[in-house]
Amino acid sequence: MAVTAHAAVNQPNLAAAAASCSAGYVALTFDDGPNTGTTNQLISALRSAGATATVFPTGQNASNNPSLMQAYKNAGLQIGNHSWDHPHLITMSQSQIQSQLSRTQQAIQQTAGVTPNLFRPPYGETNATLKSVESSLGLREIIWDVDSQDWNNASSSQIRQAASRLTNGQIILMHDWPAATIQAIPGILQDLQTRNLCAGHISSSTGRAVAPSGSNPGGGTGSCTVSVSRGSDWTDRFNVNLSVSGSNTWVVRIALGSGQSLQSSWNASVTGSTGTLTARPSGAGNNFGITVYKNGNNNTPTASCALS
Ligand code: ZN
Repeated sequence: MAVTAHAAVNQPNLAAAAASCSAGYVALTFDDGPNTGTTNQLISALRSAGATATVFPTGQNASNNPSLMQAYKNAGLQIGNHSWDHPHLITMSQSQIQSQLSRTQQAIQQTAGVTPNLFRPPYGETNATLKSVESSLGLREIIWDVDSQDWNNASSSQIRQAASRLTNGQIILMHDWPAATIQAIPGILQDLQTRNLCAGHISSSTGRAVAPSGSNPGGGTGSCTVSVSRGSDWTDRFNVNLSVSGSNTWVVRIALGSGQSLQSSWNASVTGSTGTLTARPSGAGNNFGITVYKNGNNNTPTASCALS
């Protein structure tokens, strides 16, 4: 079944984004996705509160659901690795483990365009062989501080209760698939806000929950700015150079002048040809450009940046 990636841009919820994070950050983690039944619901529950999270998809699910991987990415979620098909890795040989982890790195790179630096072992089971493979792939092992028991039929109120035990820097285990988890999200986020805690991302250097960073490929909160400068100029067209700062997960809207149209672009994925264009990262960094046909209008377009 094809699920179309959502092309529209969702502005962060400003009221929620303005909430105090004075008590610190916690990491909401969702394993085993993406799933056609629940992933979009999970994303919209997070989005409506302006919150972020960390997801640990399996490689198999990632490769089966590339558009949902894009949806994770576009929602600004941090994406980690959760093995290819969820085996008991501690019963496997080093080469089998290597295959489980590296195939998943590739599947996530191919579907979401990011290379994870976090690994969550299925069942939380780990050993020295697994740890050595993780480190050879640049992956930090992430377990959890609080188990929501959502995999074990916990009710949404029990899941919410579990999240209420989180303190600054801690991580809670949840899953992408249980209906009770999706139902619990608004209450969990409300409770965090009451306690001046914010949903963050997991630092690959400390393994703790921290503020989502602009330099983190999964970063989804904060702000970004775009600067616009005029480049080469010809009789019929001109170049515009754009540079984004503050985030790597941006959407830039470029307002062409009346009559102007897009000839070409570089280092970004640009949609539209007249009026307002939409540019997103193409994996080539935060500096990109467009060539615009003047069609009698020599004004330099304006641009604005939003987080995706
Ligand atoms: Zn799992």
